Amino acid sequence: MDSDLIIVGGGLNGPALALAAAGAGFSVTIIDALPSAVRSMPDFDGRSYALALTSQRLLQGIGVWRAVADHAQPMLEIKVTDGRAGEGAAPWMMHFDHAEIEEGPMGFLVEDRHLRAAFLTAMDESDLITQIDAARVVAQDIMPDGATVTLDNGETVSGRLLVGSDGRGSGTAKRAGIKRIGWGYDQTAVVCAVAHDKPHGGIAHQFFMPNGPLAILPLTGNRSSIVWSESTDRAAQLMKLDDDQFLEALRPAFGSFLGQLSLTGARFTYPLGLTLAQSFVADRVALIGDAAHGVHPIAGQGLNAGLRDVAALAQVLSEARARGEDIGGAQPLARYQEWRRFDTTTLALATDTFNRLFSNDNPLLRAARDMGMAAINAAPSLRRGFIREAAGLTGDLPKLMQG
Ligand SMILES: Cc1cc2nc3c(=O)[nH]c(=O)nc-3n(C[C@H](O)[C@H](O)[C@H](O)COP(=O)(O)OP(=O)(O)OC[C@H]3O[C@@H](n4cnc5c(N)ncnc54)[C@H](O)[C@@H]3O)c2cc1C
Repeated sequence: MDSDLIIVGGGLNGPALALAAAGAGFSVTIIDALPSAVRSMPDFDGRSYALALTSQRLLQGIGVWRAVADHAQPMLEIKVTDGRAGEGAAPWMMHFDHAEIEEGPMGFLVEDRHLRAAFLTAMDESDLITQIDAARVVAQDIMPDGATVTLDNGETVSGRLLVGSDGRGSGTAKRAGIKRIGWGYDQTAVVCAVAHDKPHGGIAHQFFMPNGPLAILPLTGNRSSIVWSESTDRAAQLMKLDDDQFLEALRPAFGSFLGQLSLTGARFTYPLGLTLAQSFVADRVALIGDAAHGVHPIAGQGLNAGLRDVAALAQVLSEARARGEDIGGAQPLARYQEWRRFDTTTLALATDTFNRLFSNDNPLLRAARDMGMAAINAAPSLRRGFIREAAGLTGDLPKLMQG
């Protein structure tokens, strides 16, 4: 075998698993179709992630956080309101403050460029990780004692366990015969970042608009990341506008609480949909991240869920080795699936339900959800439950996320 693990996909979850596995003493070959220079551009491109506190702990545990920390904005409060563009927020809101829990900030906002650069540097520094860039996996063979993948340049790589971290359209899953369920939302997220006059105070805002949620997430300095989910037609129109026109369109939804706005970096669009692999494992194959579950960004939990897969799989593999088991064997894979599949299915269904409940202008639903938000906000134990959920502190936490 060339290595213990072959990881297909060097996006975000693949490198996190490579580092977690190497940290536990496994040798890893990680393959990505794109050159690393394309995956990690030094300029800010508007993409960023709300990482839960437990994801930050994982990044610390795998030696990546020190390179990211100076660029990370702590998320201290979250305010959730219902509204229509131009009318301001409805009077009902949910307000979650990290001061209500002991563990610290609910999470951190990290720009994509800093995260990817930190992953690549840490992988370069590891003797146990071999990186193959600019090579697409086109075939996989499963044998009794391992798996072999074939690259588009004809080379082959073998390992005891094949991990699919190749995103929503996972070829690894397809080749393993794993079917998916899912649907589109006819919504597209327009993602960008803005600079503003007034400080954000580390507060993240989620405004529920009739076409979809608008998230305003604090970045370092007087900057915020925008994830604006709109109907697909409207998102296409928004992308045709020049920067000034785009800001004019954003202002009625965004409001004026942060003062004057200007765009920093490019605008991106992501068609939104749900996709869930019917199994997270097959013979000698495990899926992690978006290859296993792609969810609506309404709760900013996609990458957080993927990083939990990473921490869980790394722990299952270490424990399997300690027991003398084959790391690509059926029992460890069944334990990984049992740990992660129920959690992620629940997350996928919850984000789906929230999106359907909030992305509409039905007056009855509006009244019901406003009452629901007021009730949650008035109940300290429910409020704390939501804060712990946002921080990723609920459920069966893998060791790398326990801090
Ligand atoms: C608008 C939006 C906002 C979001 N905000 C948040 C947030 O705030 N917080 C959060 O937790 N999550 C967020 N997410 C979710 C997050 O972006 C994803 O969960 C995450 O990027 C998935 O990473 P991944 O590594 O699993 O997959 P990907 O990033 O899709 O990486 C897959 C990699 O596999 C490679 N690949 C594919 N096929 C092959 C092949 N055959 N051979 C070799 N390589 C291959 C690709 O080149 C790619 O690099 C958001 C998502 C969207 C759309």
